[in-house]
Amino acid sequence: MSYKIFQVDLDIGKEELELVKDCFNRRWLSEGPKCEEFLERFRDISGSKFAAFAPNGTLGLYLALLAMDLPKDSEVIVPAFTFYASASACVFANLKPVFVDVFKDSLNIDYNQLESVMNKNVSAIMPIHMYGQSCDMDKIMEFANKHKIKVIEDAAQAVSVKYKNKHVGHFGDVGVFSFFSDKIVTMGEGAVLTTNNEELFNTIKLRRNQGRPNAGTFIHPDLGMNFRVTEVQASIGLAQLKKLDKILQHRLEIYDYYQQKLNGLIDLEFVKQESFSSLAPFRFSFRTKHRKEIAQYLELNGVQTRSCFYPLNKQPKFKNYRTLECAVSQDAYDLGICLPVHRSITKKEVDYICEIIKKYCHENNL
Ligand SMILES: *Cc1c(COP(=O)(O)O)cnc(C)c1O
Repeated sequence: MSYKIFQVDLDIGKEELELVKDCFNRRWLSEGPKCEEFLERFRDISGSKFAAFAPNGTLGLYLALLAMDLPKDSEVIVPAFTFYASASACVFANLKPVFVDVFKDSLNIDYNQLESVMNKNVSAIMPIHMYGQSCDMDKIMEFANKHKIKVIEDAAQAVSVKYKNKHVGHFGDVGVFSFFSDKIVTMGEGAVLTTNNEELFNTIKLRRNQGRPNAGTFIHPDLGMNFRVTEVQASIGLAQLKKLDKILQHRLEIYDYYQQKLNGLIDLEFVKQESFSSLAPFRFSFRTKHRKEIAQYLELNGVQTRSCFYPLNKQPKFKNYRTLECAVSQDAYDLGICLPVHRSITKKEVDYICEIIKKYCHENNL
């Protein structure tokens, strides 16, 4: 299939290239000044006291879990509606995910279900800030503090998402942001862990750098691996952070434009915006009883679509863990379509996409 409009497209150009050239000129590609500069900027943006890199969001979650030294085989509460990595990171860290459902309106973790899965073996909870909106962190922190469990915010999609005017990522013990190609800001692959807890930060540093505080020594006081990144990634990321306001503005404009254009089609149901959260659109997603047909029709017309996530409690390798029923997550998969809101998509292209959807609805009397 040759697409006219792709689900993911990058806004990378001369700003990124200039900074990458600097690395070549300096003949230094491993972690160095660009990485430091990126972390400094990211601390500013996120309001976190400490920040450290990981090679990608998946390994970032894994690193966060390793650094917390949670009891082996203890359980982590994870919503069923999220990307596979949220749970696979737990499994590789010798932990067991326990699945709860999400709210229909926001697709974020349903905090009303938390007590019903709580027991002595639960050591942590991993709320996901889904599709550019924050979870209700007050509710989650209240629950976590009551039971004295740890909180890992999966903020992979949530660069610049604010909960009650405060950037997400450090309400809990640690937050993990991804810089994969389809996230708000990209460096190809990459992630940052944020925390306000200095002790935890020091452990993260040991775990990510071979169990030692600095490179260049062969005495390794602790256990660690290599979770480092490169100056090239950080350079691309830095150029992206400089454009962050523009990136967000564009995504918001496109998101609003979709809503405006598709408003009134009774078969379509949009994700609702929570009053406590800002919005940093990751995708434009909506539910329709005609998901398969509409997606097919869009694809036929050269528009690349995505489904929503397949419920984790149904995944072949996760279905034996403890779970609630998670009907909303199942519904989100069965009915959800994601449309692109990336930096290079234009309003004209959104017009085109929406016309196709309207045409389908019109022809089928929806
Ligand atoms: C993208 C994503 C991840 C994984 O991040 P990668 O950088 O792709 O490894 C984890 N959780 C969520 C919710 C994501 O969207």
